[in-house]
This record gives sequence, C-alpha cells and structure tokens, in this order.
Amino acid sequence: MSANAAAAAEYERKKARLESEWTEGPGHLQLSKSTISNLFRYQPRETGTKRLSLGDFNQPISLDAESLTMDVEGLTTFETIADYAIARGHVPLVVPELKHITVGGATVGIGIESTCFRNGFVHDGLVEADVLLPTGRVVTASATNEYADLFNALPNSYGTLGYILRARIKIEPVQPYVHLHMETYGTAASYLDAMRAAADSGEHHFVEGLVFEDGRFILMTGRYAQSVPHVDDILRRNIFYRLVQARSDIYLTTRDYLFRYDPEWFWNIPDGLLYALFRRYAPARFRNSAFYTHYVAWKDRLAQKLPGAREPDTEPLIQDWEVPWEHAEELLEFALREVRLDGRPWAAVPIRTPRQPTLYPIRPNTLYFNLGCYLQVRKPEGKPPYYYTKILDEKTFALGGIKMLYSSSFMTEEEFDARYNGEAYRELKAKYDPQGRAKTLYQKVVLPP
Ligand SMILES: Cc1cc2nc3c(=O)[nH]c(=O)nc-3n(C[C@H](O)[C@H](O)[C@H](O)COP(=O)(O)OP(=O)(O)OC[C@H]3O[C@@H](n4cnc5c(N)ncnc54)[C@H](O)[C@@H]3O)c2cc1C
Repeated sequence: MSANAAAAAEYERKKARLESEWTEGPGHLQLSKSTISNLFRYQPRETGTKRLSLGDFNQPISLDAESLTMDVEGLTTFETIADYAIARGHVPLVVPELKHITVGGATVGIGIESTCFRNGFVHDGLVEADVLLPTGRVVTASATNEYADLFNALPNSYGTLGYILRARIKIEPVQPYVHLHMETYGTAASYLDAMRAAADSGEHHFVEGLVFEDGRFILMTGRYAQSVPHVDDILRRNIFYRLVQARSDIYLTTRDYLFRYDPEWFWNIPDGLLYALFRRYAPARFRNSAFYTHYVAWKDRLAQKLPGAREPDTEPLIQDWEVPWEHAEELLEFALREVRLDGRPWAAVPIRTPRQPTLYPIRPNTLYFNLGCYLQVRKPEGKPPYYYTKILDEKTFALGGIKMLYSSSFMTEEEFDARYNGEAYRELKAKYDPQGRAKTLYQKVVLPP
C-alpha cells in the first residue's frame, strides 16, 4: 500500500470510529485537541459539557501536484502541513504565521497572511471538506454539491455548524528561500499608495507591513528564490521584527519566512538578559508560539497567587480589523492617534478575496486593508475596560469594515446579526444543528457590550 493510500485508510478508520461511537448527551459540544488554541478570549466563557476529542485528526493525507491540491486532516497544524508540502515542492496558498494554527481552525476563524492580496483568505483555498455535523453525521461539502450552503458558511462559523475532519486545500509551487525587501515611508498616505501599488504590480509573492507609532511605516515585499547570498537566522541571533527595521534586504528559508513571527509570538517575548539567553540557547521546541501561550498562562497563575506579581492594568489588544482600501488611511491614522503601543508595531496586510462567504460579508474582488494588533497594552487612565478594542471596533464598522472574531467582541445580538448575516446563520443552524448541540456563533464569540 502506498503512503497516500495508508494515510487515507487511516483517516477513514478514525472517521468511522467517530461516527460509530457517537452518543447524544446533554450540554454543548466543546472541541478537545492535542495542540494549543489560538483563540484569545478576554474573559472566560461558559464551558461546554460534551468534550469531543478530535486531536488525532492531525495528519496530512496526500498531495496531488497535478490538480495542485492536498488533503489534510482537520486538526493538522500549519507547521505539519508546511513541512509535508515543502518536502514535495509545494505550499498552501495562505499559511498563517503561527505554527500551531490548524487548517480547520484557520478556515472557520478567517486565517490571513502576506499572500492574501493574491490568494484571498485561508478559506479561499478550501476545495471541499468533510464536516462532522453537531448531530454526529459526517457530510462532504463543496461549493458545487448539495452541501454548498454549509461550505459557504464554514468561514467565520467557529465550529458552531460542525467540525472539519478533512480538508482538500489548494497549493502552489514553492522555492527553498524567500528574499524580503524593506522600504520605509514617512506618512500613512505615501505608505498605503506604495502598498497598494505593490499588491497590484504582479511582481511580488508577499506583501505586508509594520507600522510604528513614531511615524515609521515599513513596507515588506518578498519573492520566492531558488538561491540567496546568505540565510539570516531569526531563531537565535536576530529578532525578526527588529531585523526588518535595521535592514533593507533579508534572506530566509521559506519555512522560516512562513513562521517568521512564531519564535517571538509576533513581538511579545520580553527583552532583558534572561530572555536574550533564552533566545540564544533554549531548545528549538521552546522557541515557538506554544511556549509563549504556556508562559502567559503560567504568569497569570502566578499573579493570582502573588498579588505583587500582577502586571499594571493592561488590556489584551489582540485583534484584526479590515476596511475597504479607500478607508485605510482613516483607520490607520485613527489607530496611531488614539492607541499607545509603547514602541511595538501594528501589522498591516492587503487582502483581496475572490468570494463572499455567508457569515463574513466582505466585498469580493475589492482590496481591503487589514490592521492587526497582537499585544497586551497599558490601559489608558480613566477609561473603561477594553477601551481600545471598543473604539477600534466602532471606527472599523463606521468605515464599512469588519473585524475577525477570534478574540473578544462587544455588541448586542441585533448589531451582531446585522454585521455577520444573522438571518442566514439562523437558517443554517436550524438545518445543520436542529437540536442546538453546538453553541450559536453569538454565544461563542461575543461578550455583552
Ligand atoms: C494572537 C493571535 C494571533 C493570530 N495570528 C494569526 C495569524 O498570524 N494568521 C492567521 O491566519 N490567523 C491568526 N490568528 C487567528 C487564528 O487563525 C484563529 O484564531 C483560528 O481560529 C485559530 O485556529 P486554531 O487552529 O488555533 O483553533 P482553535 O483556537 O483551537 O479554535 C478556534 C475555533 O475554531 C474551532 N475549530 C477548531 N478546529 C476546528 C475544525 N477542525 N473544524 C471546525 N471548527 C474548528 C474551535 O471550536 C474554535 O471555535 C491569530 C489569533 C490570535 C489569538
């Protein structure tokens, strides 16, 4: 039996076991997996009572270089997927920058990256999916079959319409290295013009940027390369977001490029001698975003036991907002004027999606500007909790934009329905989860305003 056939048979075995062992029970379903979660919740939600263990659906199945697709199990991390695909000369169209994000999580949670200006979101690369419905039945959904309504509603559904057990995703040929070039601009207007021109030029494989509040707007454009003059080390010797400020050209292996923000969890591993030693000498298995997730949980536990160890009042500002390009300057200048990041950058990504998913109403074939912040920020004095989150949400929606829901959101159910197509969602929920075994999207992702 070939390796592909063996992996496919193994997947079928796991799926059959899951279906045959399915039992009804009280309480909402809650996914249990073997890797970390990349959902970021400011406050705890009610926990589900029926834990559904899908952790072993975590392997690539096959790659077909002719049809430019690969099959992967739904909880496979992008690190595993990228390693498998790169070894076979390919890479998924959009690879999120954190290694432990899974294909299922990024599809239902709107994954983005520096290839989004030419490839859309992670979910735009989905060709078909086996979905475990909350009723325990598994169906195969694609854009053209009888489950097309489910397929189109997977993006931004966060598991509330079912769990992806297998995904067929699009891939593209890859080269071993990436050459990254940096240009610095002094104003938001000139920066955004340059970013748009780069996205429209057809010359780049990657376009993204970092924006610092002291008025440095850094545009990064990149191309795959067959060979490079040298390879920069962003695991031990350099910190990627600092290297970007110091150099006009950076050369990385493709794998390091894809996960360039993973070792520092963007820009969150603190400075200082201890951390410098950690960067230099810690085993590679600790130099990744999973370490940071565990580290933050440990610090929180410590702060609860030792009140003196508590951080000064902070707000977790971990969010992505998108507006149509004509409003990019207004959103960016608003963010720079109103929010203090204490020297850390904003992340900027141009995105153009070829289709409009049912639950993420974004205009197709229109360039959007994505602004991301991945930081604990100091709370401004005298302001209510989550002040920064709320003013940026409000500004984004006022500009005809939308925000991702992987973090915390504050809105009424009426506002939520108007922004995320609540009417269509209710119909789909009634059809695919008639007994309400999974939470509703609103229950899962929104806190009371
Ligand atoms: C700090 C931070 C940084 C981020 N950075 C990036 C980034 O660089 N690029 C990017 O693209 N995205 C980024 N994200 C967003 C991320 O892609 C989403 O949060 C995504 O949903 C996380 O997927 P996960 O695999 O970690 O799943 P989890 O966090 O475990 O789950 C996310 C949600 O998806 C559901 N889910 C998980 N697996 C499945 C499945 N197989 N089928 C159906 N539902 C499922 C879960 O029930 C849950 O509701 C970031 C998020 C955070 C908090």
